Amino acid sequence: MRYAILADIHSNLVAFKAVLHDLEKRGGFDKIWCLGDVVGYGPEPGACIELLKQLNYICIAGNHDRAIVGLIDILDFNEDAAQANQWTAEQLTEEQKEYLKSLPLKHIEGDFSMFHGSPREPVWEYLLSTSLAKANLEYFDTPFCLVGHSHVPLVFKYTNDNINLNRLDDGTTIPIGEHRLIINPGSVGQPRNFDPRASYALYDSDAEIIYHHRVAYDVEATKEKMREANLPEFLIERLSHGI
Ligand code: ZN
Repeated sequence: MRYAILADIHSNLVAFKAVLHDLEKRGGFDKIWCLGDVVGYGPEPGACIELLKQLNYICIAGNHDRAIVGLIDILDFNEDAAQANQWTAEQLTEEQKEYLKSLPLKHIEGDFSMFHGSPREPVWEYLLSTSLAKANLEYFDTPFCLVGHSHVPLVFKYTNDNINLNRLDDGTTIPIGEHRLIINPGSVGQPRNFDPRASYALYDSDAEIIYHHRVAYDVEATKEKMREANLPEFLIERLSHGI
């Protein structure tokens, strides 16, 4: 089986479609594991939800998905994010909002546990340091864990009581073996590690390898749609810089 591991699509339909196209070029996929934040920030929230629902997938809830439907307080976000969340809520149909409300906070499939933020705190915690990763090891039982939220592609590897942190670059391969791993595929729709290309991972369970990929997409097209929607300028500009 081939699993496309996608996180933080953030209403960026152009980037989402570019990633799906890249997956097709690489031989396709059987199922999407979506790690939350399908919406928020970007210009096409409803279309991203509908496209995802057409595919074979599972999806967990991110903090933006939950804020937009009132499950967490919009005031917990900075001003730009809160404004985008408010705008997003106005774009969605009742059915789409019910859909976001129905998303679970975690999903376990085979050897993988999936959370948006972290196993310990699925909604808010950013897993960006080895000490935080270590503290989270006891909060999932499977060998491997997938997270999103920070938008930074990286892998934590647990060996001999130690945790190593490695950033993922385009083309990095991660062998799935005896060591416990926590992997973040990076963000499809709002990459933040100074690379504006969409970021995702692909797990081939027969080969026992996870591949990390970056995909250039038409950033200007997304920015133009955001301008038309009057979304905050900072959120528009950051897409060009991957910040
Ligand atoms: Zn996010």
